[in-house]
Amino acid sequence: MSAKIIDGKAIAAKLRAEYHVRVDVLKAKHGITPGLAVILVGDSAASRSYVSGKIKACREAGIHSELIELPATASEVELLDRIESLNTDPAIHGILVQLPLPAHIGVSSVIEAISVEKDVDGFHLYNMGGLVTGSTVFSPCTPYGVQKILEHENIPVEGRNVVVVGASNIVGKPTALMLMQQDATVVICHKKTRDLGHFTLLADILVVAAGVPNLIVPQIVRTGAVVIDVGFNRLPDGRIVGDVDFEGVKEKASYITPVPGGVGPMTVTMLLHNTIVSAERFATAITSGFRR
Ligand code: NAP
Repeated sequence: MSAKIIDGKAIAAKLRAEYHVRVDVLKAKHGITPGLAVILVGDSAASRSYVSGKIKACREAGIHSELIELPATASEVELLDRIESLNTDPAIHGILVQLPLPAHIGVSSVIEAISVEKDVDGFHLYNMGGLVTGSTVFSPCTPYGVQKILEHENIPVEGRNVVVVGASNIVGKPTALMLMQQDATVVICHKKTRDLGHFTLLADILVVAAGVPNLIVPQIVRTGAVVIDVGFNRLPDGRIVGDVDFEGVKEKASYITPVPGGVGPMTVTMLLHNTIVSAERFATAITSGFRR
């Protein structure tokens, strides 16, 4: 068996075209341009490259974006002040603070300072808690991208065994919770899981987000499984690979995402989606007289 290789770039392009139409409607009907503020603290090359990708994607989708750059020496109070003014800025519908932050700044106090209504990354405690009850305001972008890939490929989730390898707050845990909301039976594995293969072999759908190249080899994948590789690792020779032995596992799986070109393009696409949804809610609130 050779798996269907899921083209995340193509799915993302299709969704982005649909989102562009929604932006055009917002502009034409309500005179509102969705706006995203991206805050970058410090000068890490990797963070700068992620931020540039997000700004470029906004431009292409017709979304207004503002890049707010603060030096690595900026204080937590300075950053909180910037967030506070963006929270009340009517031209801004989404606020994103690029992580990681310098060590002297507390990540949780920064994330909790973002208005829940503008937390388009979905990292605020309220949104995280909402994943448990199914009442998030915004779903976190990478897990949402995974969900959208499964939807696009018409892969049913209800009643299936889902194994998520990786238990981080931004990928593994929210992915597991989102798929549990869709009535999957979910197992989460992490570094201390004993005998990883014992669990992964149960998976109808295997989502891997560990940051360990070649962690998932064919011997620990069930024949016919759907394999979603979130991992993004740069090897010493410069190559980008996921966490899955792609060449080996694609001969055993029914569907597989490549790296690059799988989950990656979907993450930024979901950020655009959340920003547009936020602007649409804003437009509805104005129309119904709840806001001026
Ligand atoms: P993270 O915060 O480092 O978390 C990694 C998780 O994997 C942790 O829960 C860790 O377990 C677990 N883990 C590590 N080694 C393991 C092993 N040998 N067996 C089982 N579990 C193991 O990383 P992250 O932010 O979630 O990101 C994970 C990967 O996804 C990275 O490669 C990252 O670059 C990539 N990523 C991609 C996108 C995208 O858009 N494509 C977005 C975000 C992240 P413990 O909890 O026990 O430490």
